Amino acid sequence: MSVLRFNALQEVLNRKPLIVEENERRSELFGRNVFNEQAMRQHMTKEAYQSVMDAIEFGTKIERTTADQIAVSMKDWALSKGATHYTHWFQPLTGATAEKHDAFFETFDGGAMEKFDGSQLVQQEPDASSFPNGGIRNTFEARGYTAWDPTSPAFVYGTTLCIPTVFVAYTGEALDNKAPLLRALQAVDTAATAVCKYFDKNVSKVNATLGWEQEYFLIDTALAASRPDIMMTGRALLGHAPAKGQQLDDHYFGSIPTRVLNFMRDLEHECMLLGVPVKTRHNEVAPNQFELAPIFEEANLAVDHNSLLMDVMEKVSQRHKFKVLFHEKPFAGINGSGKHNNWSLSTNTGVNLLSPGKTPMKNLQFLTFFVNTIKAVHDYEELIRASIASASNDHRLGANEAPPAIISVFIGTQLSEVLDELENVTKGKLSPEEKTDLKLNIVGKIPEILLDNTDRNRTSPFAFTGNKFELRAVGSWANCAGPMTVLNTIIAKQLIEFKEEVDKLVDTKNLKKDEAVFNVLREYIKASKNIRFEGDGYGEAWEKEAKKRGLSNNKTTPEALKAKISKKAISLFEEMGVMNKVEVEARHEIELEEYSKRIQIESRVLGDIARNHVIPTAIQYQNTLIENVKGLKEIFGNNFEKYANEQIDLIQKISSHIAGINSKVELMIEERKKANKLEGQKNADAYCNKVKPYFDEIRYHCDKLELMVDDNLWPLTKYRELLFTR
Ligand code: ADP
Ligand code: MG
Repeated sequence: MSVLRFNALQEVLNRKPLIVEENERRSELFGRNVFNEQAMRQHMTKEAYQSVMDAIEFGTKIERTTADQIAVSMKDWALSKGATHYTHWFQPLTGATAEKHDAFFETFDGGAMEKFDGSQLVQQEPDASSFPNGGIRNTFEARGYTAWDPTSPAFVYGTTLCIPTVFVAYTGEALDNKAPLLRALQAVDTAATAVCKYFDKNVSKVNATLGWEQEYFLIDTALAASRPDIMMTGRALLGHAPAKGQQLDDHYFGSIPTRVLNFMRDLEHECMLLGVPVKTRHNEVAPNQFELAPIFEEANLAVDHNSLLMDVMEKVSQRHKFKVLFHEKPFAGINGSGKHNNWSLSTNTGVNLLSPGKTPMKNLQFLTFFVNTIKAVHDYEELIRASIASASNDHRLGANEAPPAIISVFIGTQLSEVLDELENVTKGKLSPEEKTDLKLNIVGKIPEILLDNTDRNRTSPFAFTGNKFELRAVGSWANCAGPMTVLNTIIAKQLIEFKEEVDKLVDTKNLKKDEAVFNVLREYIKASKNIRFEGDGYGEAWEKEAKKRGLSNNKTTPEALKAKISKKAISLFEEMGVMNKVEVEARHEIELEEYSKRIQIESRVLGDIARNHVIPTAIQYQNTLIENVKGLKEIFGNNFEKYANEQIDLIQKISSHIAGINSKVELMIEERKKANKLEGQKNADAYCNKVKPYFDEIRYHCDKLELMVDDNLWPLTKYRELLFTR
């Protein structure tokens, strides 16, 4: 066995689990390192506390002198938690998080002290010339700044006070994922609050809520380190499927392996301190695949918490000698990972707008938000698809365990029946009998219906699950800000239109408000029928049917991303105040470029491994076979073939696979060279359609060789070892 592979396996077999003690209740740990409401009330003046609260609730500006007060309290609190540094914590367009640490420490007149004031709290200037900006800033004018987002509380992680911030250029354009999300959440708040007033005048704020479910793989660090592909690209570019994969379904919800459980407990402990309300943990379908889910939160906070979690997972996994893989498809042949985004809208009066209520009026409110959501997804399905596009998620969408690249909405048979009935509501004024019937027999029945609305369609990319919608096509590696920005923006736009139409019917057709609502909903139900699909989303029949219905089916990222810069998308974002044209186009450019770069890296790594690891090993084994055949010939003379059949056959097969690898790698490199001369869309298209197709062909030959070559010689840790040794 190659030394690397042998040593890696030895290392894993000798590992001792890192035992994690839990001495305190989680409820007592929760939020201990967060400058949350409780901590603020304790450490801040009433005035300063109130101004932060107002900023959170109403978006009011915090005065400079107040910011100074807040900064001092925040610093004292952070020092008491052992912090030495502070950082503005932000989410640049790389999708990861970024931080630049500055010490509180300052010198003065021969002395030293810890100092932190309002200006440092509110704004910081990271030298940000190396962050992707899609041409918004020229590098010689690399000035952007980060600005405090008081709606997401500061926290101490390790010895650093982290202050969640947005990252914007001096010209005002957003350079990050958070700023557009905040604007989208503002838009949906305004639009949804206005609609809520039809039903309850007391509603003054609507929050989008998000509960994500993070899937991931854990691989031992020693094994991962023995695989250059996993280290460089986050996935195995080659490797033959093991005899035993997930076919026995013995991993899903199975007992969690001890080493993994220790990692999870350690991780959850960190999450508790950081105020990330993690709740659920379990084994997933594939071997070594797991899931973690929190209690849902306001969407901006939930997005921050997911980014923070991914960061913390990497750090904690190192302690436990695991490498965590967020890639959507690290191993061919077994399930990939996603990040379901459970989404709803909730009022400041404590009502979940996607949860049916006890009275017909509350149910009409539910139906209003329910139908408007479906209509918005119908109108912007292609943009939703674009919002979840990435090189790594392309492997998953449309593969047999994940939602297809076609966006559709699943609502269950019973709610489908309700919508079918509403579709037949009379146009214009309703008779008193019809009104009573509607309220009692159709709308009034909903709560009972939902209790047993358990037929969950796991193949739907956007499913209603009782009191929320679940966007399931989001990739496990993704920053939820992208899809959440799109979803909340299209809902905002839809709700504004809805209100205009209802008001118009009330004003011009003299309809009662509830009649007008029924009338508009009826039209929406009709108009959005095509997006509703209750069948098997994985089937080929659905692809055909979806095509007939005119739904998009953009299978690759370069294709899908086009919807982001369509006229329709740009005017949507501009109209809702979420992004201007420059910001939209910049993001598109960055995403296309990231796509090409990822495929380029994979292509280089694959070429290297195939040529430098696989071929030399195959030749080495072939030489042994040749020696063997020569020896047989010496012993048996001309009769030798009888004894050397198998070997000669293998020698030939090995040669042909080597030739296959060589010629395909050569061709792939040629295509790369051509692609590199192209820019933007053409560059991405070339990587997608010309370079990437060679991956499977090269892999085919390598994986065949893996089955032929002596296991003792094979240099790369095999699937069966990666997935089953711990
Ligand atoms: P699963 O889909 O795995 O069966 P659940 O449906 O129980 O699990 O919940 C999944 C996630 O949905 C959890 O993170 C939960 O917090 C979240 N969730 C529940 N209600 C809401 C809501 N109103 N808004 C957003 N997320 C929610
Ligand atoms: Mg779920």
